[in-house]
Amino acid sequence: MVNAAKPKDSDYVSPNDGGCWFCCRKGDDEYGAMLFDSEFDTYLHESCLRRELKDNPQNGEAQVMKYLIE
Ligand SMILES: [Zn+2]
Repeated sequence: MVNAAKPKDSDYVSPNDGGCWFCCRKGDDEYGAMLFDSEFDTYLHESCLRRELKDNPQNGEAQVMKYLIE
């Protein structure tokens, strides 16, 4: 199945290994600074969280993490 949003395998980092919960990439780069959420014990990009809240406000995980940017 083709999914254009899927990162290249070489870029993929599991959230368990410090990758972003939403995009599975690691590091502060063009995707923005990383935040740490203690609810899910995961790192995530601020930009990814903001995008998720905007594009998919029904996402319960994003709603739980919303406190990080408020
Ligand atoms: Zn991300």
